[in-house]
Order: sequence, then structure tokens, then C-alpha cells
Amino acid sequence: MNMKKLSPRFFVSEQITTTDLGVASAQGIKTIINNRPDDEAQGQPRSADLAAAAAELGMQFVHLPVVAGKITDENIDQFERAYRTLQGPILMYCRTGTRSTTLWALNEAKTLDVNAVMATAAEAGYDLTAMRARLISRSAATPAAASDLIQKAASTDKHDIVIIGGGTAGLATASSMLRRKPGLDILVIEPREAHYYQPGWTLVGAGIFDRKQTERTMASVMPKRVKWKHAAVTGFEPENNNVVLEDGERIGYRVLVVAAGIKLDWDAIEGLGDTLGKNGVTSNYLYDMAPYTWDLVQQLNEGRAIFTQPPMPIKCAGAPQKAMYLSCDHWLRQGKLKDITVEFHNAGGVLFGVADYVPALSKYVDKYGIDLCLNENLVAVDGPAGKAWFDRSDGEGKTSRIEAEFDMMHVCPVQTAPDFIRQSPLANEAGWVDVSAETLQHNKFGNIFSAGDVCSAPNAKTAAAVRLQAPVVAENALKVLSGSAPHAVYNGYGSCPLTVERGKIVLAEFGYGGKHLPSFPQWLINSYEPSRLAWFLKEKMLPDIYWDLLLKGREWLVDIELLPQIPASREHKDAVDS
Ligand code: FAD
Repeated sequence: MNMKKLSPRFFVSEQITTTDLGVASAQGIKTIINNRPDDEAQGQPRSADLAAAAAELGMQFVHLPVVAGKITDENIDQFERAYRTLQGPILMYCRTGTRSTTLWALNEAKTLDVNAVMATAAEAGYDLTAMRARLISRSAATPAAASDLIQKAASTDKHDIVIIGGGTAGLATASSMLRRKPGLDILVIEPREAHYYQPGWTLVGAGIFDRKQTERTMASVMPKRVKWKHAAVTGFEPENNNVVLEDGERIGYRVLVVAAGIKLDWDAIEGLGDTLGKNGVTSNYLYDMAPYTWDLVQQLNEGRAIFTQPPMPIKCAGAPQKAMYLSCDHWLRQGKLKDITVEFHNAGGVLFGVADYVPALSKYVDKYGIDLCLNENLVAVDGPAGKAWFDRSDGEGKTSRIEAEFDMMHVCPVQTAPDFIRQSPLANEAGWVDVSAETLQHNKFGNIFSAGDVCSAPNAKTAAAVRLQAPVVAENALKVLSGSAPHAVYNGYGSCPLTVERGKIVLAEFGYGGKHLPSFPQWLINSYEPSRLAWFLKEKMLPDIYWDLLLKGREWLVDIELLPQIPASREHKDAVDS
């Protein structure tokens, strides 16, 4: 099989066999799409047989048959729907790969530069010259065409860029844009007076950082050349390029970046709000609460400590177990662990979402004698009574309620998209800002982008992800602002430094589909083993990297993928302009 990469999340090939499925699976492919009608040629493997073999390897298999030389608009719509929802990386095949590549190109032409799409296909060995006119006509039908929206915005008093949220993603994106275009008129809308380095809260909960190290005034971190509006956004008018503030004021933009973070839904768990911060119930997910975690850890000499994890997605999926490992490490060093029962109640069915890191983590689960309670979701707490209730699912749709007593409990809250996003025209069905996983451009409104925890891209929601997302959004938003199509592609990078003991970290770094994307050579930091150097990085270097590089748009160790650029021909330009 000759698998050709068209994007970090998408590959094509000629007809595959069951043996090829094993190779694809080993290379991290999660979904196979077959574009060949069955019985097109003699000896062609049947779709049903390949689907069965793919299922055995844990891969999804989708049959989207397309007749050679007759790709219909319905075929493209079907592919677009599948492409948005299926887990990547995806491998799509037909007889030679041409049909699959063409289908991909016709879909991508809606948002990406047509020349760049054709050049990408050409690099993979597929000449789409004959499709050029059709690709151009697709590009004119961009989701609520960015160029139309921008043109409309030009006639009125609008900011070049409006960014919602002055958190990690909002500020990093503003700075990355200013590095590329210093004179840009950027307005950041952010109600808070403080900015937090949230990844530091794990170390506050373990007594390693003082919480003050994780807080700076918003004024001190706001990039100098942006305007800051101290307000909260409550609504959107995407057709008119406006956002609406709490007091009804409307703010206009040419390009909008939504970076409003994630909502911590403490009320989703009965009784939690009343007891958080007392009765032994804590959470590293709050600036004010992380020091209480360390107080409780130090005070506990015996009894039961419970750590919880809600259903995904959450920000920093490793944070609930980081709190647990560091607490266990302290109790072990103090000789108390033998008198403490530790339970990890995880609503999910696995210890960690990317299987490659589970062996290293499991060793620590064994070392600390942690009772791993999978598929158990916290639903209620009675702090004064020291009791918690979990819904345990048996995997076959049956749920039973179980009760557990605790002396200390660390809770990771349920997390959703903020209400004003969930209820807006920008949201997908799950409530997140509905963007392309690759360009981070909105799927319906071409002059809207999103980065950070609030966007729908299926990456690990982390500050590390923002390192790559911010430059991708900066590149693409500036392209759209200047009337061109996006050309930068996000590979799904995210990272989770799993603090397995004081002084050692398993540094998980991965992209879409769990693809291993290490920042350092393996001889320096072996991603799959606990590392002292990774701990040094987290404790001594990452805070400065956050404040002085990420928030200031200095893109250290960042190499974003730009689709090949070839100068637009006059013919093409005219066609797009008309
Ligand atoms: P945020 O930084 O939360 O910013 C969102 C901003 O939007 C806020 O300032 C908010 O006030 C503003 N906002 C909200 N609503 C509105 C509105 N209506 N109008 C205007 N503005 C609004 N990441 C890592 O990479 N590594 C780690 O080790 C790590 N550990 C973590 C440990 C913990 C305990 C926690 C809580 C997080 C951790 N993270 C880690 C995750 C990381 O902090 C987040 O993923 C990152 O901060 C997301 O950035 P963001 O800009 O999307 O959201």
C-alpha cells in the first residue's frame, strides 16, 4: 500500500487489502473510508470483508461509493459530513486514489486556497488540473463566504480583529498576529482583571508552587498594541459581523477569534457547591482551592482518599491523576501511604486516553496501591457526612449507584462549553465553536476562527495545544482578512506532563489520533518513561515559557504546517474575484 498524506489528519491510497489494514492501524489510522462501489472490478476485495477486518483492529470503516469520473455534489456533502465527525487520522481509498483525492480537494476548496489544495494533491502524485474550474466554483461557495462577510464589514466601523477571551489562547493569538502584522487593529474583550497560569495549579496542590506564582494582572500580560475592552460577550450576530456585550453594546469585527475557554460546571454534581473548600473536599481546578489540596494532603494520616474524573472532554485530561500521584508520593515519603486507601473513580473506561502512555502510568497505580474504579461517574457528595455517590456503568447500558466514604476527596468538575457559546449560532451539536479541525476556521462563517478549550477540534484541551493553534489561527485569520483562503494546518498537537512523582514526569505529547509528536529527541526525554528532565522543564522552565514566549507570540519549537503555495494565476484570481 502506498499511503499518501494530504493533511495531518487525512491520507489516501489505491485499493487496499486486509493486510494493508494492519499496516494502516500500526501507523495510527483510526478510520478507513472506501470510495469504490463493490464489484467494480474482478478480484476487488469486498467492502464488508474489509469492514469486518477493520473492526477487529479497532478501526471504523465507512463505505462512501463514488462512480469514477462522476463525483456528485451529494457525494461531496456526504464526505463533508463524514469528515467532520469521524475520528482521524483517516485513510480514504479507491482504485488508484484519484477519486478519493478529488473528493478531498472538492471539500477542502471551500475553505483552503485552491492552488494550495491542487499543489498538495500534486505533491502526493495526483494531478487535478482537469478539476480546476470545479474547484474554483467550490471556493466561491465558501461557508458564508469569508470574503463577502469581510467586504460587508469594510463599509462600517469595525475592528480588524476582535478576540473574545484574554486567557491563554486569546492572548497568544493576539501576539502571534501582531508578530506577523504589527499595525493590526485588535480588540480583546475580557472581563477579568487577573490572568492565570493554570498548569501551575497542579504544583500548588502539591506544595511545590505558591499560588501567587500562577497569577498576574491582566493589564500586565495584555499585549501592548491591543485594545482591551473590560466586558463580557453575551451574544453573536455573525451575519452582521457583530458581537453583543452584556449591556447590549455591539462591537463590530472583520475577523472574529473566539477563545472563551471552558465552563467548570460545579452544579452538575449534587451537593458539591456547598462543600467545596471544606469537609475535606477540594479541587486543583480553582486558583483559590489548589492550596487547600496541599493542606488536606499534609493533614491526612490515615483513611480513604478519593480522586475523581468526569466524562471527557475536560481541560488537561491528566490533571485529576496528577493530583493523585503527587499526593500518593507525599504519603509514601512520609510513611503514611500504608494507612491510606486511595481510589481513582474515573467516568471513562481507561486510565489515560492515549494507550501508549498507559503502561508507565499503570506502574505508578501499582506502586501506590491505587484502587482503579473505571466507568464510575461522581453524581453527588455529602461533605459533612464524608460520603460520595457514583453511577457505575457496566458497559451494556446498565447503571448502578454506589456509595463511598472518604476522608479527603479531590474533584475534577464536569466541563462544558460556556453557556453563551452553547446557545449561539456558532456552536456545533455538542456546544463547542464549530471549526475545521485543521484550519480552525468556522464551518459556517468564514471570517470566524476559534482556539483553545472552547473550539470543537478534537485535540487534548491544553495550553500546549495553544502553542500550535495560535500561530495557525494567526496565519489563517490574516489570510482571510486580506481576501485569501487559509493555508496553515493544525496537526492536533497537545501535551500533558503527567507528574507521576515529585521529581519525575511522563511527558505525553501527541496529535490527532494519539500520534506521537515529541518536542525533544527521545534520547533526551523518553516520552514513555518517567523523566527527571521533563520535571525540570515543568517546574523551572514552562512557567517562563508560558509568560515570556507563548503569551508574547515568540513561537519557540513551533513548526506549523503550511500548505504548498504557488502564485495564483490571473485566470484563477479573476474567477475567485468574480
Ligand atoms: P482560558 O485560559 O481559561 O481563558 C478563557 C478566557 O475567556 C478567560 O480569561 C475568561 O475570563 C474569558 N471569557 C470567558 N467568558 C467570556 C465572555 N463571555 N466574554 C469575554 N471573555 C470571556 N495545560 C497544559 O498544557 N499543561 C498542563 O500541565 C496543564 N495543566 C492544567 C492543570 C489544571 C488544574 C488546569 C485547570 C488546567 C491545566 N491545563 C494544562 C489546561 C490549560 O490551562 C488550558 O487548556 C488553557 O488555559 C486553555 O486556554 P483558553 O484560552 O482556551 O482558556
